[in-house]
Amino acid sequence: MKSRSQRHGPHVSKRKLKVKIIQKVREGVFDRNPLLATPHAVECKTCGCLQKITYLEYLKTGKFELGKTKTIEVAYAAPTLLGLNYIPESITPLLIQIECRKCRAKISCCPASLEYLMFTARKQVKSDQTYV
Ligand SMILES: [Zn+2]
Repeated sequence: MKSRSQRHGPHVSKRKLKVKIIQKVREGVFDRNPLLATPHAVECKTCGCLQKITYLEYLKTGKFELGKTKTIEVAYAAPTLLGLNYIPESITPLLIQIECRKCRAKISCCPASLEYLMFTARKQVKSDQTYV
């Protein structure tokens, strides 16, 4: 555990982020997102049966956890500079745990990252505003 003195920095606590996601989900921001709002089949690794789950429902009820944030380097082409540039990007996996209906084994899956959700939420707000 590191110090908690970064209150003003970009490092918001995981619990706050989780609350923020639930808030966004309840606002209906992700209701038209095909990844989250449509049912997906997840296979149980123990018995092999398929579970139909809608990630959005798990998000709505807060049945998810935020994984450890990893920093990855993303390459992008910068036309004004020579070659490729690398920008560090942080990825926080969203972990959903499901219980198998048949054998009760726990299945965990990671449908998206927190950053993806936040990006989608921002985009949604923007595109909604252009129609007003
Ligand atoms: Zn099973």
